[in-house]
Amino acid sequence: MSDVLWQSVLGEIEVTVSKASYVTWFRNTSLLENNDGNITIGVPNIFTKRQLEDKYHPLILKVLEKNGQKIESVSYQIKNSGSSQQTSTATATKTKTPPAAVPRPQKANGKSLNKRYTFDNFIVGSSNEVAHAAAQSIAKSPGGKYNPLFVYGGVGLGKTHLIQAIGNEVCRQRPQAQVEYITCEAFTTEFISSILRKRNFSNRYRSADVFIVDDIQFIAGKDKTQEELFHTFNSLHQANKQIVLSSDKPPKAIPTLEERLRSRFEWGMTVDISTPDFETRVAIVQSKADDYGIDIDSKVAEYLASHYQSNIRELEGALTKLLAHCEMRHMQPTIDSVEQLLRPDTSHQKHLTPRSVVDKTARFFNLTKDEITGPKRDKEIVEPRQIAMYLLRSELHLSFPQIARFVGRKDHTTAIHSVSKIEASIGNDHYLRQKIYELKEKLYV
Ligand code: ADP
Ligand code: MG
Repeated sequence: MSDVLWQSVLGEIEVTVSKASYVTWFRNTSLLENNDGNITIGVPNIFTKRQLEDKYHPLILKVLEKNGQKIESVSYQIKNSGSSQQTSTATATKTKTPPAAVPRPQKANGKSLNKRYTFDNFIVGSSNEVAHAAAQSIAKSPGGKYNPLFVYGGVGLGKTHLIQAIGNEVCRQRPQAQVEYITCEAFTTEFISSILRKRNFSNRYRSADVFIVDDIQFIAGKDKTQEELFHTFNSLHQANKQIVLSSDKPPKAIPTLEERLRSRFEWGMTVDISTPDFETRVAIVQSKADDYGIDIDSKVAEYLASHYQSNIRELEGALTKLLAHCEMRHMQPTIDSVEQLLRPDTSHQKHLTPRSVVDKTARFFNLTKDEITGPKRDKEIVEPRQIAMYLLRSELHLSFPQIARFVGRKDHTTAIHSVSKIEASIGNDHYLRQKIYELKEKLYV
């Protein structure tokens, strides 16, 4: 791969993620090495490294692959950009560590797990202690009395962390065990693509010792996938293999879930994770900062914990942003810096509403809002409508039923189809990419 190719990968990522994310996490990256598919990407600091590893790795793999790049592994290495950048302990200590290649997810055993989600760094409080205890018990004796374990709770509260910690712990204790972690969306995609390629899917996960499916609520309305999961479930359960599921709601509340699956989900143990209290949030901030080798003032940790109450991912995002900001300016995080840094961001996000996305997309293409949301299927209207749906997904993370509603569609499968069509076209269609890029610029003004 040449740097030109990396630039084109970046071009595609630029229109896929939000503008703020692109500027913060991708703009200063470059290709350092491509050794027969072992690719090393240079990043400016440890925060970017973590963010790319944890959040954007699947996207990077996908786009690289789409650009025809052969991939053995992709790793992220902090670029040594002279001594002036190396003042803080975080950078100084972490730069010396050789980069650990992040392997492609679907290959070897347990490799689909993020190694950093462990029990060690999971902070326990009253909001998650029952779930945590159940998870630990399962990691000790998989396939025992809690089967399946069903963990539910709101967004960003630690479900993925906890269920992956089970997987990592099992791998640690029993290196021979086969641990499979997959998101429900990926499971669906794999299943569909196996149908298209006329491959047999049924044995794909039936040899697992521990089978972990994340965000199972996405199975709602997908009959064939439910059926496939049902058979996989039965076969594993009968063989006393451990099944772990997570969802944003309890089994009862998942709409259009087949009764036989629902009852199976409730067979074992159902536990919830709720919003952590203030003390737990402070402890989480401190533990994450510690992870970066940074000692954070307790006032700053408390400030963050009091401003981000309902979503740990956002709390962590704010911390990472703060640390990255201070690192680049060689300063310690203080209350002043945190106030200054976090204020504009929230107002910026509030700015964009689903309605304004639809309106601005219509205006950009010289259409009226009624045309975009109306019944007409003319080519000049269909594509802008699809782009509006794509943006509702990429910028505002709306669900497909919500997206459908905002563009006047009754059926959410239209939204699924439209979003994936645009996602697929962006890679090949330079013109479309440019258009979406320009439109995105306009969304935030
Ligand atoms: P969910 O899957 O529920 O949406 P995640 O597991 O992805 O949430 O958690 C979001 C982020 O918050 C992750 O980076 C995770 O490490 C962190 N997190 C959540 N709960 C805890 C906790 N109790 N201790 C440490 N980190 C946590
Ligand atoms: Mg999750």
